[in-house]
Amino acid sequence: MPQLMEGKRILVTGVRNKWSIAWGAASALRREGASLAFSVMGDREEGNVKKLLEEEKLEAPIFQCDASDDAQIDALFEQVGRHFDGALDGFVHSIAFANKDELSGEYINTSREGFALAHDRSVYTLVRMARAARPLMQAANGGSIVTLTYLGSERVVPNYNVMGVAKAALEASVRYLAADLGPDQIRVNAVSSGPIKTLAASAIAGFDAMLQRVEQTAPLRRRVTIEEVGDTILYLLSPLARAVTGEVIYVDCGYHIMGMV
Ligand code: NAD
Repeated sequence: MPQLMEGKRILVTGVRNKWSIAWGAASALRREGASLAFSVMGDREEGNVKKLLEEEKLEAPIFQCDASDDAQIDALFEQVGRHFDGALDGFVHSIAFANKDELSGEYINTSREGFALAHDRSVYTLVRMARAARPLMQAANGGSIVTLTYLGSERVVPNYNVMGVAKAALEASVRYLAADLGPDQIRVNAVSSGPIKTLAASAIAGFDAMLQRVEQTAPLRRRVTIEEVGDTILYLLSPLARAVTGEVIYVDCGYHIMGMV
């Protein structure tokens, strides 16, 4: 039986360890036959990903890229282009960062530096990576970009603070990028994941209480897994989603539809 992603060349960013949402995406993409490349930040992550790939007997190059640096982004896509013979069918943007002390207490206390930092790492990285990826996706006659967002972009989630505001900007960027890149048949979408216990999430004060609330009140009465988020990322990267762009798709066991919870 033909696999959904056979012949598709996909870059996965943001795998920090086996709990990362991006790892859920990589596993789903691999299952459906995609050719993968990974980008990581720093030696420790490279070591983690190398080990994961060995355990899974998955052969794929790992490139280093600190996405706060334009030159490193350009170098990354140059390497990716070389690896995939000048073309790329899609990439997963699974990158976000805010200072831990901005992820507790009142939003009103957000510092100017903390505001700029959260937006630079969590939003601008998508914009800049999309720009660097564009020629490779044009060479592939189209492509698909998927980023990760969270409900705190449109509702007030205690302690999520500046990251919620950054996710709102990220979702707006998805729409603007989708409009820019649509004529090139490049689609841009976001997956809004329910809370999952990852390293990035552990920086948010009261995160365990968020998980409990989801288990008690989401229609499916449970939390979402990285495998389930990965399957929706796979869908958006695949030809099944060929007419879907500029969207935010919730994968949160239905939590976002509830009223007062
Ligand atoms: P994670 O800690 O496993 O992954 C975050 C990744 O961001 C790491 O790999 C880290 O290296 C990368 N990163 C941060 N700054 C970077 C930079 N300058 N350059 C390159 N990479 C950088 O956590 P995760 O929860 O898997 O996070 C992935 C995405 O999912 C984030 O955008 C996060 O906001 C989003 N998300 C997470 C949840 C959740 O509950 N875990 C829910 C919704 C959305």
